[in-house]
Amino acid sequence: MLEKREWERCVWLGGRWRGEGCTPLPVRSPASGELLAIAGEASSAVVAEAVDGAARAQLEWSRRPAADRAAILSTAAERLADHEDEAVWWLVHESGSIARRARGGVRLAAQRFADAQWTAERAGEELALAGRGPSERSIARRVPLGVVAVITPWNSPLVLAVRALAPALAAGNAVVLKPDPRTPVSGGVLLAAVLDEAGLPPGVLQVVPGGASAGEALVSAPNVAKVSFTGSTATGRRVAELAGRSLRSVALELGGNNALVVLDDADVDAAVDAGIKGSFGHQGQICMATGRHLVHAAVADEYIAALVARAGALQVGDPASGDVDLGPLISGAQADRVQRLVEESVADGAVLRCGGRREGNYYWPTVLTDVSPSMAAFSEEVFGPVAPVTMFSDTEEAVALAEQTPYGLVASVFGADGERAMALLDRLHTGVGHLNDETVKSDATAPFGGMGWSGNGARYGALCDAEEFTTWRWLTVRELDGDTRPGAVAP
Ligand code: NAD
Repeated sequence: MLEKREWERCVWLGGRWRGEGCTPLPVRSPASGELLAIAGEASSAVVAEAVDGAARAQLEWSRRPAADRAAILSTAAERLADHEDEAVWWLVHESGSIARRARGGVRLAAQRFADAQWTAERAGEELALAGRGPSERSIARRVPLGVVAVITPWNSPLVLAVRALAPALAAGNAVVLKPDPRTPVSGGVLLAAVLDEAGLPPGVLQVVPGGASAGEALVSAPNVAKVSFTGSTATGRRVAELAGRSLRSVALELGGNNALVVLDDADVDAAVDAGIKGSFGHQGQICMATGRHLVHAAVADEYIAALVARAGALQVGDPASGDVDLGPLISGAQADRVQRLVEESVADGAVLRCGGRREGNYYWPTVLTDVSPSMAAFSEEVFGPVAPVTMFSDTEEAVALAEQTPYGLVASVFGADGERAMALLDRLHTGVGHLNDETVKSDATAPFGGMGWSGNGARYGALCDAEEFTTWRWLTVRELDGDTRPGAVAP
């Protein structure tokens, strides 16, 4: 299914591949530079065509019984499981993920397809309202939105696409998916293939890989009802601006600079374990990554010594060639940025305890201590394998440090006194909070999303997907001569 792709198979429109209207785009492994595929970038005209085709297909799709839609998505879960090894191969090669993480991502994506049945069930929900007296029947009915534009980043291209498109489709919407041009196969081609095998009708999912210009064409296309965007805060602002001009709804899931707070009574080994996974998992390129380690002075020496020892033992290398802990960063530009943020922070007084080494796209796990809020490693989302450690001496200082960021995605607190630790966690303005656990945690059911610069209040997860991908329609039927059938409503 996923043999190397040629650019003639760039976009998936109306249930077939084509390359017309696309600019060829080589996709290379960030680890080795190997040419993986010649994909393509969709032109603005192709994006417009994709949206119009999706709008036509959506009408029929929304009329299908919810159980049919759920069955197709549940079959997609099975097909994705059948293709797990191929999906892992592409995630490892295209995004630089280690195989263990890639496999977890594929399984989570399959779970999200299966869980979409919940959204399908809720999508046709009707509530009886009081009406104005006995002669009026008044109801609220959930209806699909129409065409949902899904724009995704390269860092977890498969699962971030599925978390939006599966519930959107389940609710009776059509989807136009624009994956990042660096991950067009694991973020797009693969999903088109899986849903086609599962029996999704042509046109209900269209895939248009591309960069900023394809993205802007998609956000601005007249028939788009909602934009579901995952990516950086800077791009999210631009997307919101464009969507605002067209008065369409937009769900933004953006960056993070997440704090791991280690209190004086914390289980230090468990906290270090969370800190290692949080800062170095997927080379730190996760929105939920631990961006700041805030550690009580009483346990700081122990915490730092263990963090440095464990970070220094992590293996860095090409994830396609063996069992490594960290692969490459996505690009030379991203490695440059990480290197610059570390060097600037060290110049401003941070102490480099391990790492700081760079070779091509590889950057070694780095621990910085004596980090203060004015330093770049504290104030910016690094999106690289860097663990900046800042000490505090009381709860008030811990809260002030944790809150010293415009982002609000995740916070974790470690402490043996659960009541005290939870009281601290409750004061932090984040969409997600964990007690005695790492910042990087995923669950297909739980509501996930950020506050502040991390998003605009949108939430993903089976619990709330119906809210995101449907709207309410109010319908009344006035009784004429005792008849409340819809046809009896006066024009
Ligand atoms: P990015 O904003 O550069 O790109 C994201 C997507 O937007 C890509 O598909 C890109 O092609 C597209 N895009 C770029 N410019 C556009 C424009 N002007 N109009 C429309 N689309 C445009 O993000 P990135 O650097 O690739 O991804 C990393 C960022 O994503 C990090 O900040 C990370 O924290 C964030 N992220 C957030 C979540 C979350 O759930 N909150 C999950 C993963 C990643």
